Amino acid sequence: MTGGKIIFMPLGGAQEVGASCYFLKLGENNLLLDCGCGSTHGIRFAPKFSALLQTPYLQDFHQVSHIFLSHAHLDHSAALPDFLSLNERAAVYMTDLTREILSAQLEERFAAIEKNISSVAFLQKIPLPRMRISFHQAGHIPGAMMTLINFCGKNILYTGDYSTFPTQLVGAALLPDVKIDILILCGLHARHPHYRRFGDTDDALRKILRKIDRALHRRKIVYCQVTQISKGVELISLINKFLPRAEIFIDERVMRIVHRFENVHIPIMNEQNHPLGTFPRAPHVILTTRPPPLHSDFEILKGDFSLHDDFLSTVEFVRRINPKICVVVHSPPDKLFHSTRTLEQVLINDPDSRTSFIFPNTGEPFEL
Ligand SMILES: [Zn+2]
Ligand SMILES: [Zn+2]
Repeated sequence: MTGGKIIFMPLGGAQEVGASCYFLKLGENNLLLDCGCGSTHGIRFAPKFSALLQTPYLQDFHQVSHIFLSHAHLDHSAALPDFLSLNERAAVYMTDLTREILSAQLEERFAAIEKNISSVAFLQKIPLPRMRISFHQAGHIPGAMMTLINFCGKNILYTGDYSTFPTQLVGAALLPDVKIDILILCGLHARHPHYRRFGDTDDALRKILRKIDRALHRRKIVYCQVTQISKGVELISLINKFLPRAEIFIDERVMRIVHRFENVHIPIMNEQNHPLGTFPRAPHVILTTRPPPLHSDFEILKGDFSLHDDFLSTVEFVRRINPKICVVVHSPPDKLFHSTRTLEQVLINDPDSRTSFIFPNTGEPFEL
């Protein structure tokens, strides 16, 4: 009997980005928060599901009853077919828009998992044995949700990726109006004290837009490869806003998601946007998920940028919630500056903060 025990263990995406998947045991209930894939040097890796069976908490994957999927980015969603092949019964919850984007991203792999998925809406509540669960807008990308679980009188909030600022396509996160005891935070920049955003764009994004602008002035064709399909959609929308005269030719995978967004009344395209195919000689932008050709005159750009809170906003976010325990995941160390200043070190010196921090590693269980 585990009573009201709360156990947390990352199966991936702990102190790194990629394969985010977090096991949460609430008494007899076994849940997964997210189920994503990562890649290093182009090689895909899935969460370490098998680590679960080496713990006393689970004997069989079928004991996992529910999966909550925060948003459609691949590092949170792409291993769902892998897990459902181990447990074909698990019920999966996500917003309608996440489901739409996911179906376009997973392509033929989506059909096999569709029957497991239930769509949920923001603020909707679902009652499960000894738990109450609700979903809240997370910002970051359209469809992204936070999951709030009330278990044995305790409120546990899993943020998924979130932003407290509005992005080009979605409003800021809206926090539930309850006291949070345990915060499971996707704190991408929790250990990056030097990372700062300015307004609603980050440095990398400004650089991309500036490079596109300059190359078009030099009458070049810009070949922009995006790291995620949904980031391509964001980029189209930003190019349309900041460089409204730029012509963009969009590959079919990105275009498929653009159509899904437009179907749910998030307008993306303007008359300067076209499907990739034959294009004119005039300078323009090619926006694609595919790698560039080896030999070309193109100006080649990587379309990667952050849709996450920066370091100071992360500190402010946790200070405002002031949970008893904050479990920080999705949190790579600062490679560039080898900084030792973290979210934890700032709040430890704050007399009003009651938070103790855990930075767990993959496969490391904690009783919360
Ligand atoms: Zn994300
Ligand atoms: Zn992520």
